[in-house]
Amino acid sequence: MRIGQGYDIHRFLTDGAGGLRLGGIDVPGAERLDGHSDGDALIHAVIDAILGAAGEGDIGRHFAPGDAEWRGIDSRELLRRAEKLVVSRGFHIHNIDATVIAERPRLADHIPGMRESIARTLAVEPSRVNVKATTNEGLGAIGAGEAVAAMAVALLDEDVP
Ligand code: MG
Repeated sequence: MRIGQGYDIHRFLTDGAGGLRLGGIDVPGAERLDGHSDGDALIHAVIDAILGAAGEGDIGRHFAPGDAEWRGIDSRELLRRAEKLVVSRGFHIHNIDATVIAERPRLADHIPGMRESIARTLAVEPSRVNVKATTNEGLGAIGAGEAVAAMAVALLDEDVP
């Protein structure tokens, strides 16, 4: 087995237009997160955890920010590609655990949808994916509602040759 961890943070856009994407789903009640892709900090943390477990560097190495190919892309597509990469290296996903840190919007009702979305993208049972959410107790930029951060760990099984 191999373990990997990932972390990401993205700031909210301030255009008031809504459009938050998190965990591969649309979440009402907040602006979209800034980023070259769709800004989905949770999916990005999961990607880094998976790549880290496989010893494959990080998301920026495989999907360089600034590359026109990834502009505005649905981060689930990047996750799908990361999963394919680690499978090609002889691994498959055992389980994922992730935490979103956000002061707003309220995420509790959307956790099951994020879990399903990530599991479906990875083609694993939802029971192998866990998503949690917490606030930052009003502290710092996250606490001020300016950004969303996410952390994830991934455990990979090594395929028996
Ligand atoms: Mg990111």
